[in-house]
Amino acid sequence: MSRSEHTPHGRQHPRWHDWRWQMRHEVTGRHPALSAFGVTEEVIARVHSRYPVCVSPYALSLLDPSNPGDPLNLQALPSARELRDEPGAADDPFGERRGTACCRGLIRRFPDRVLVMAHDRCAMACRHCTRKNLLPDAEVIRTTAQLAAAADWVRARPEVREVLISGGDPLLLSDRRVTAFVKAFADLPQIDAVRVGTRVPVTLPMRVTPALAASLGKFRKVWVNTQFNHAREITPEAAAACALLVEAGIPLSNQSVLLKNVNDSADALFELCAGLQRIRVRPYYIFMCDPVKGTAHFRVPLVKARRLERELAARVGGLALPRFVIDRPGAYRKVPIGESLRSGSAPCRSR
Ligand code: SF4
Repeated sequence: MSRSEHTPHGRQHPRWHDWRWQMRHEVTGRHPALSAFGVTEEVIARVHSRYPVCVSPYALSLLDPSNPGDPLNLQALPSARELRDEPGAADDPFGERRGTACCRGLIRRFPDRVLVMAHDRCAMACRHCTRKNLLPDAEVIRTTAQLAAAADWVRARPEVREVLISGGDPLLLSDRRVTAFVKAFADLPQIDAVRVGTRVPVTLPMRVTPALAASLGKFRKVWVNTQFNHAREITPEAAAACALLVEAGIPLSNQSVLLKNVNDSADALFELCAGLQRIRVRPYYIFMCDPVKGTAHFRVPLVKARRLERELAARVGGLALPRFVIDRPGAYRKVPIGESLRSGSAPCRSR
């Protein structure tokens, strides 16, 4: 039985390539399609009530029903391990809820950058998500007036020169709305780069249409960061989505998360980084999994991450070599893992 036969409609559906159709047919909570992957209904119901389950038909079609330990299954399907208590983990380790106090939908952790919360949904609820405890009630910008207020807030702080539009996934908004977000900040003379953080090239690549790529490319300030975590996510559809963005003049970088049993081997990382380079996506960061509640089962010990970093450096050139970093609560920059090991200041459970 092919993988796509486990999706609600299958790749043969005439509207398979229409991203809005994909979103209307998302597989959520109690959908019978999930039972094909060996997760019990009881686990799905318990986890879904705390951490919503949702997978686009496209992302579901990549999963492997014959292997519960498949690296893509682990990122997409709920696990009872998400509900275990974990000392030292937090709902919001980076204080992002507090960060929104400056202006609705804006979070500022670094002096020269702000994060704009443009959406509270994604094409797939990744089980390892850093914001899994925040997204369901995140304060996002929903109105034109809120967007104008956020742009005014940035304009009044000329030291801010970079804006990251994220969420949730901003590319689930309409073309018109995505463009409005980008324009609001790209038009500020102080802004050198508008970064768009999105996982749609991985989980909903049909969302990247020629029209969307062209309208983002026009600004000449847009950079796109995506998150491929495994080489099997680099499908022909994903490659085509990335090609549209690159050919519209948009630099593409990838920020992976180092995830236990997903990509925590030198071979898996080599395949991922080589595959990304092949489709002209720069492997930029490998993040240690943050100390967020519900993600302990994904965390990789820091000493192992350091070893993987060295092994990968021996196999790929600099252009395909990401930096292995920790995003530490309270730090004003991403901390290289070697430095963190030396200072003994790794987050709990990462060593
Ligand atoms: S796409 Fe990003 S923000 Fe959305 S669930 Fe996945 S990791 Fe979280």
